Amino acid sequence: MVLKPYAEVLADLFYPQRCVGCSRRSSDVLCRTCFEALPEISPPTCGRCGLPTAFEVYGCDGCRTVELAFDGARAPLRYEGVGKGAVHALKYEGYRRVVERLMAPLMAGSLAGMRFDAVVAVPLHRARLAKRGFNQAELMGRAVAGRIGAPFLDKLRAVRGTRDQVELAAPERRENVAGAFDARGPVAGSVLLVDDVMTTGATLNECARVLKTSGTREVHALTLCRTC
Ligand SMILES: [Zn+2]
Ligand SMILES: [Zn+2]
Repeated sequence: MVLKPYAEVLADLFYPQRCVGCSRRSSDVLCRTCFEALPEISPPTCGRCGLPTAFEVYGCDGCRTVELAFDGARAPLRYEGVGKGAVHALKYEGYRRVVERLMAPLMAGSLAGMRFDAVVAVPLHRARLAKRGFNQAELMGRAVAGRIGAPFLDKLRAVRGTRDQVELAAPERRENVAGAFDARGPVAGSVLLVDDVMTTGATLNECARVLKTSGTREVHALTLCRTC
């Protein structure tokens, strides 16, 4: 453990939080300046893949030629600036308070009253779970489930380790996650599938495919951030 300088320890008594956007001490997880700099994705978007578009569409230039197992995708933020800062603060620094204070309200807010029978999270393989200590997608999924009044079901399992998608080009990503997940029993009805970031959608796609194989009728993907 690294000891903090005395002055910082004292300051923490009064301002126990820091802003995930600029790392400065803040009375909450985000300071006003960074709140105003949130890289929001505002409508219109493509209902199928979540990309910003010029008009509300279902199927855009970015996804029309791609086969997707999920029926819709949404993300309130672009994966840049403060959005990226929030994901990193949770994932790599374990700053969990950001889930309830910032992530869940933004994510639930982007659903615009849609109803789901259950919320499921993209699972982490046990080796990575042991290293990190928690699954950030599960924390987000549980918090969103609480807000929309749907049960969180721990139904997906990562059956093998995968390389970090960040290192891979788009075509390799699908290969990397193919067969990496399975479902522990069926989940009926319409499911909200939660993860932290959507890039090519390969992971969400594979999880959605597994859910549908096990009997789910509809799968909608929800992430905090999306690359655009
Ligand atoms: Zn800030
Ligand atoms: Zn699209």
